[in-house]
Amino acid sequence: MEQCACVERELDKVLQKFLTYGQHCEQSLGELLHYVGQLRAELAGAGLQGTPLSATLSLVMSQCCRKIKDTVQKLASDHKDIHSSVSRVGKAIDRNFDSEICGIVSDSVWDAREQQQQQILQMAIVEHLYQQGMLSVAEELCQESMLNVDLDFKQPFLELNRILEALHEQDLAPALEWAVSHRQRLLELNSSLEFKLHRLHFIHLLAGGPEKQLEALSYARHFQPFARLHQREIQVMMGSLVYLRLGLEKSPYCHLLDNSHWAEICETFTRDACSLLGLSVESPLSVSFASGCVALPVLMNIKAVIEQRQCTGVWSHKDELPIEIELGMKCWYHSVFACPILRQQTSDSNPPIKLICGHVISRDALNKLINGGKLKCPYCPMEQNPADGKRIIF
Ligand SMILES: [Zn+2]
Repeated sequence: MEQCACVERELDKVLQKFLTYGQHCEQSLGELLHYVGQLRAELAGAGLQGTPLSATLSLVMSQCCRKIKDTVQKLASDHKDIHSSVSRVGKAIDRNFDSEICGIVSDSVWDAREQQQQQILQMAIVEHLYQQGMLSVAEELCQESMLNVDLDFKQPFLELNRILEALHEQDLAPALEWAVSHRQRLLELNSSLEFKLHRLHFIHLLAGGPEKQLEALSYARHFQPFARLHQREIQVMMGSLVYLRLGLEKSPYCHLLDNSHWAEICETFTRDACSLLGLSVESPLSVSFASGCVALPVLMNIKAVIEQRQCTGVWSHKDELPIEIELGMKCWYHSVFACPILRQQTSDSNPPIKLICGHVISRDALNKLINGGKLKCPYCPMEQNPADGKRIIF
């Protein structure tokens, strides 16, 4: 972060210079225009047409020309000064950031022969583009990389984007229609999306003033199914009706008109719709990218240490990292279990097995510990039949 702040400071300096230069430039050009305009008016007023210039006048004219030239030259040289500040930003970037990060990824990762990997990457990019609503770019990439994406995969993204776009335009209808048709499943998720949509529509009516009062009152019946869960919010909305004549913006209920409700509804919709459709709120690509940004500095340091101690070959780059990297709670998706015997993380092919004594070890460890058809728990040590062990899922 310190490095970013360093570059930002240089950038601020440049922006400040640009600002002062712009103001100064406008001011001097304005003064110059005013001066020349005045001179022209004086000349025209003197009615000198056809007569040769007097000595005084020609002096005034040449003074004017010199003044124009000086001002322009001064502006040009000031402008040149900004160049050095701009190049200082470039130098700050070079000084504070590593430009060479290829070394921590093995070349073979992007090998043309590894076609399957390439396809996985392309698919991740396409999914990200769909998720971001950049549908035409996603289509183009599919065509160019000859990727076949079936409609079932695209459909949820297309629908979500259509609804989100409408929400950004403050059009609630598509979102409401979607929420009503998925009401039961949304309730199972403890989602308050439908209520929030109705509330926004109600507030929208309130903003229309007293002539919308009847419509708002009749719309309030939509709150009925939510009366128990959102009693307090419904009371607030009903209370606001008292101030309809006076204008809601001048009442204690002015917070209802806050624009942040629209940003909030987009967020709620994305989160709840994604969890209902089994999609992640953030695309796998952006999660991987963010994790990479956290891991990169650590890996760069490790790489430097490995090279310094001349122990290259310690890190094979193949499906493994040289050390464990803490990515924070946000990236915890599921629990993991490491076998206490083999000190390896369990996987689908080597799952954790619970022995009848209650101790848990991996299947590989269990197989290694079988002796003469019997298994002795390495912890308690109860003797048991290996077939009695049960697979457990975290
Ligand atoms: Zn045991």
